[in-house]
Order: sequence, then C-alpha cells, then structure tokens
Amino acid sequence: MNYFWKTVWLLLAVTSCAKPKTVAEPAQPKPSKDEILENAIGEVFHQLTLEPAGIYENERLSNYVSSVGKRIARCAPKSRAWQFSIIDDANVAGHALPGAHIRLTRGLLAYLSSEAELAAVLAHEIAHVGHGHTMEHWNPQLPPLGSGERAQQAFERDRDEERQADALGTEYLACAGYAPIAMAHALAALERALPSQEAHDPSDPHPAHPTRMARLALQADGRSGDWNRERYLKRIDRIPFGERAGARLDQARYVSPGELSFALPTRYDVELKNSLLTTKKGEPSLVIMRLSGKFWRAAIENVLASETHTVQSIAGARALVGTMSGGENAANIALVDGSRHSFVIAVSGGTAESREVLDYVLESARPAQSSEPPVRRIAIRSASTNTSFSRFMKASCPSTSLELGRALNGLRPNQRVAAGTVLKCVDP
Ligand SMILES: [Zn+2]
Repeated sequence: MNYFWKTVWLLLAVTSCAKPKTVAEPAQPKPSKDEILENAIGEVFHQLTLEPAGIYENERLSNYVSSVGKRIARCAPKSRAWQFSIIDDANVAGHALPGAHIRLTRGLLAYLSSEAELAAVLAHEIAHVGHGHTMEHWNPQLPPLGSGERAQQAFERDRDEERQADALGTEYLACAGYAPIAMAHALAALERALPSQEAHDPSDPHPAHPTRMARLALQADGRSGDWNRERYLKRIDRIPFGERAGARLDQARYVSPGELSFALPTRYDVELKNSLLTTKKGEPSLVIMRLSGKFWRAAIENVLASETHTVQSIAGARALVGTMSGGENAANIALVDGSRHSFVIAVSGGTAESREVLDYVLESARPAQSSEPPVRRIAIRSASTNTSFSRFMKASCPSTSLELGRALNGLRPNQRVAAGTVLKCVDP
C-alpha cells in the first residue's frame, strides 16, 4: 500500500470513530459497492478540506437547508443518503462532493434572497451528484492528471456538465413545487457576489452568464411555483457576514483571542495565513495550526498516542506532547486543546534541538485576553412605508453601503419598495 492510501485508510478509521451520533433516518435502499466507496471518498475529502473554516454551527439553519435539500432530492432519479453542510466560510461557494454530500458556504447563503434560490443551488449540485459528475474525476480511464489532453477533456466535459446540471436542476425545482426561474435568480445573486466574473474567463467551465441566463429563462417560461422569500430571510437573519477574526501575531506571539497565546523563538521569520503559522526559512521549521473541527485533531491524537508521548497541562489546557518517528519526516509535536480550538505545534526533526524549540513554545503559553473584534451580521429589516430602495437603505440600514445593499438584495437605487417588504442589511 502506498503512502496516499495508507493515509486514506487511517483517516477513514478516524472518521468512523469521530462521527457524531445522528438521529435515525428513514431506511435508505442498501447502497451498492460503488456507492459505499464513493461515500468513503466523499467523507475523507469533506473532512480533509474542512480546515481552517470548519462547519458553521447553527442547528436551526442547517436543519432548514437539509429540509429544502431533501424536498429537491425527492425529485432526483435515485434515492441517496444525502448530506448537506454549511461551511463557516465568507467566500461564496457551493460544492458537490462524491458520496451525495453537498456543501454551501454561509457567504453564499447571505447573497441568496429566497428559499427557491436556495433550492436552485441545491438542485444544481444534486444534479451533479445524481449524474455521476463528482465521481468522474476519479475515473482511472482518463488521460494522466496534469496532461494537456486531460485538461482539454475536463474543460469540455465540465462545460457540458454545467449545462446539464442547470437544466436538470430547473426540472427538479419545478417537480418540488418551486418557481423554476429561481435558478436564473440564484445565478444572478452569485454574479452580484462575484462581480469580477462579469468579464467571462474562458478557462471557467461555467458557461458565460448571459447565455446561461437566457437558456434558463426559456426553460422556466410560463411555469410558476413557491418562492418562500420571507421564510428564507428569517432563517438567515443574524448569520455572520464576512471574515471572522482568526489568530494573529502580536509582539512575536501567536495569539488566538480569548484562548491561548504562544511566544515564538526570536530566530524565526514567520508567515500567518488563515490562522496557520509557518516559518519562512531556518531550521528546524515550526508550524502552528489552529483546528476548528474534530477530524484532524483525532487523526493527530491517534498518531501521537501510538508514539512515545506525555500528557501535560499547558497554561491550564490539556496537551499531548510526543515525538513522531519516521526518519526524514520525524517531528516533535504538541496537540493543545483550547476552549474552542485545538492547536497543533510541530517542529521538524527528531533532534534535541527540535525538542528545545517545542518546549520553548509550550513553556511560553499564556491565556489570551479576548479582544476579538465583533463579527458583522446579516440583519433583516422591513420597509415601514412605500419608498425607493436607496431611501430604504438610508433610513433602515444606515451602516450598510448602498453598493453592498444592492449586491445583497439585487435592487436598483430608484426601484420601488412597498411597505412591509423585507430586505437584507449588514449590521456592524
Ligand atoms: Zn456546477
């Protein structure tokens, strides 16, 4: 078994332990062997790519997204064990993973304005899964990865797949009782969120938006259905908008606000991105990683537990400290459990010098003051009188720029807003 597969099997073993208990779902048809493999690949991929953002923990909203997803999935040709997750990420994205697993970011949810638009995004992704698009990238019959032939094939295939997902998704919307034109509305919302895509990038497999919109409008022509606009907006009221504050560097210390801080040896020149600290040069190299989820934490704990290790208290937090053997890949590693995150501190090499660096960082650990800036939130407001959109923004959303308000709501400044209309703002 090569290293990659060893890692995959190790991770599979970990996920089966780390999986939270779920309420019993109605019995699904028994999955085929291919589906079991697909589910396993999807689960590993999901867990591997969850850091640093992690899951957006909001039970009410995630139940709501799942219920809309299931309403759509009933119209897909094949019954699957569908899973829907919201990622705590300010970027605007939706993905279908192998194994009937669909992920949306909270950034995407902020830009949609109705349940029908949410259903449209889910329908597009469900169509990708239902037609095997997510698994094609694992097909061993394809030309080798990285080859020009593979890239060209992938581009053409992706473009066809996008058209197919749009068209099928629109039919799923109609079948589930949603307005089919919501697919075009969802696309318009994504366009407003990502204005840089207006100039179509020819390497992007998603067909140019005007063509895509025209095709969708034609397909939806004359067909109506549910929008559930207010219900959706109520569900996203108060969700965080924009980036959350991560760990920061403060006077040569790595600081995770409200949790822990660690000093760095003066010899290092470091880089900090998404709460991940790496050393730019110098040996032994040092890494500090902040984990939001349980998956990597459990994987690292498993590795440390199988090596020589000690359990310590670091600034009041439980820590597992050990040396990972492995010749060139040896490292001294500590796994420190803070109140909200776990911190992995790794120093390359199995040498005494490497251990000294790790001990220095651990001994310097202190509880960190909370000076995290408050996160901005989506706020739902209703118009008290008949007015224009720009007047509504001035009166009801004074701290949201008109430009951001337009991107979130898809309205022109002089557009009429009837009394009682519910719209989105962002509270500081
Ligand atoms: Zn797509």
